[in-house]
Amino acid sequence: MENKNLENTVGSHVTFKSFCNLLEKIIQIDETPQHARKTGKIEEKKNLVRKFIEYWRQTAKAHNLDDNFYPVMRLLLPHDDDRVYGLKETKLAKYLIEALCIGSKTEDALKLLNYRAPTKIKSEGDFAGTAFFILKNRCRDDLTLNMDEINHHLDQIAVSNAKGKDGQKQVNTSIKHLLLNLSAIQLKWLIRIIIKDLKIGIKETAILDAFHPDALDVYNFTSSIEKVCSMLNDPEKRYNELGVQVGSACRPMLGEKAKPNKIEELLGGRQFYIETKFDGERFQMHKIGNKFMYFSRNGYDYTETFGEDIHSGSLTPFIFSALSKEATNLILDGEMCAYNSKEKLLLSKGDDIDVKSARKYDSIQTCFCVFDILLFNDTVLTNRPLKERVEFIRKCCSEIEGRIQYSVQQKALSNQQVVDALNKAIDSRLEGIVVKDPESVYKPSQRGGGWYKVKPDYMAGLNDDLDLIVLGGYYGSGKRGGLISHFLVGLLVDQEGDDEVKKFCSLCKIGSGYTHKELLEYNYKLAEKWKKFEKKSAPVHLELGNEKPDLWIEPKDSIIVQVKAVEVNASEKYKPGCTLRFPRLEKFRPDKQWFECMKLSEFDELRNKNSGK
Ligand code: ATP
Repeated sequence: MENKNLENTVGSHVTFKSFCNLLEKIIQIDETPQHARKTGKIEEKKNLVRKFIEYWRQTAKAHNLDDNFYPVMRLLLPHDDDRVYGLKETKLAKYLIEALCIGSKTEDALKLLNYRAPTKIKSEGDFAGTAFFILKNRCRDDLTLNMDEINHHLDQIAVSNAKGKDGQKQVNTSIKHLLLNLSAIQLKWLIRIIIKDLKIGIKETAILDAFHPDALDVYNFTSSIEKVCSMLNDPEKRYNELGVQVGSACRPMLGEKAKPNKIEELLGGRQFYIETKFDGERFQMHKIGNKFMYFSRNGYDYTETFGEDIHSGSLTPFIFSALSKEATNLILDGEMCAYNSKEKLLLSKGDDIDVKSARKYDSIQTCFCVFDILLFNDTVLTNRPLKERVEFIRKCCSEIEGRIQYSVQQKALSNQQVVDALNKAIDSRLEGIVVKDPESVYKPSQRGGGWYKVKPDYMAGLNDDLDLIVLGGYYGSGKRGGLISHFLVGLLVDQEGDDEVKKFCSLCKIGSGYTHKELLEYNYKLAEKWKKFEKKSAPVHLELGNEKPDLWIEPKDSIIVQVKAVEVNASEKYKPGCTLRFPRLEKFRPDKQWFECMKLSEFDELRNKNSGK
């Protein structure tokens, strides 16, 4: 590796001696009695690190140089530095003995080689400490190298070490150079850097925190101190505000899986928001003056598809007027969904429509469902709490049915409200809900910053699917008006003889799991078979609880459906005195005969099997 531009960096103006002074001051804090300290030990140590960062930045400023702190950070966190030196204590001892001409049979040489053996000096067992005592009368105090030279030689050692035997000569040269040009105290710290254990009594997390409040988050995410230093170089900028600029895709924030009965605990008993979980594709819309850009979750540019301006694409011409004239620059985050303009409803992914080419389907259009805002004119909003961001959404855009709509935040406090909302969502044929902390800031590309996705899939569930028969139907309301949108499904009641009329009992009402296309198909297939349900003349084969359908169907004309559910719950609404919790239709089973549905006795068995879960 070349020794390039060493004099043009801040590291060439800061000595290794000053860095070692910092380390010495840090360890002295452990010796300082508590009453002589202003704050706790760790806070004092962090303050020393902060002062050194400041000194580094001031030096850079004075010479008009880049102030990236990485050259120091890698020495401060040697354990996380990716350089491998291949040097352990014994090898270093041999180098020291040779470079400083210590007779190999002398007491000092033996102390270095057997540094683990107990001696009278206080740093027994600590190789760097032992070395310091031996070197202090042999090395000059006035020597030092600058930070760049140290890093340069450590680079040389690492690169040469990787070459094996071929690099040995260069390793020797670099080590000797370091050993002959540093004072004893600096050599002590250099040895600790090489051995990758500074022993300064402050954890990596505290050092990262002293550098920047978001450093640990970025480190956990990137596993690179180099990236931490470059991304968070500006102490004034928070991580979640970085890279948020119109025209360039920002990685979206993600949700964590959660069970409905854990929400109160996760939110610490505070109020939270429940939102619809839109079932489309994640997209970001950027508005730059009158120009628009659209980015997918992975940052792919779909501007051509959705439209660069009011004259082009499948979305921009239809939403342009919904955006406030005051919103010159905007970044909105949301879900791009397919909307059926005839039926007036949002479709789901299961409907198998590619929202990016919605225009090729008859009566299907794109609808952008907005649930967040990252930037409004010159203000980056990612560091504002969600409760403030949602206000901005309402300020900067209005809704146009089937083109642009925003997510509604239902305020809630209890797990029961989550269960109810999930039930309602499943009933409306959605796959789940999203729960959000109103105080959460927007953390690009992070999961677990206060957003929780709640779906029945995250709950244990019954072990088996159930093959149930459709016994009745319910008219859809609102957007599904005119269709049979939900079904009453049930079981075959066990009977002795074969000749008797077969009886069926209701078990649950189901409204989710099938696509809109499937619903239309089965509405069409069964259209002629439905009969109006009247309490007075209810069919004798049908055993019902309190729950009555709008329509009923002869079992022989009906269809079997395969159903998945989370558990069995007591309920008077259905004949067996219980019902299924979060039932979802997995498949229509036209391949099965109507009398092949699950029997009440089989259901009782399944219920007993699952009761211990
Ligand atoms: P993930 O996106 O979490 O990696 P995934 O792609 O499997 O997982 P889901 O688990 O189904 O998706 O749900 C998360 C996705 O739900 C989000 O990424 C987002 O695209 C979508 N979503 C829909 N509605 C909302 C909403 N109101 N708030 C946040 N995200 C929503």
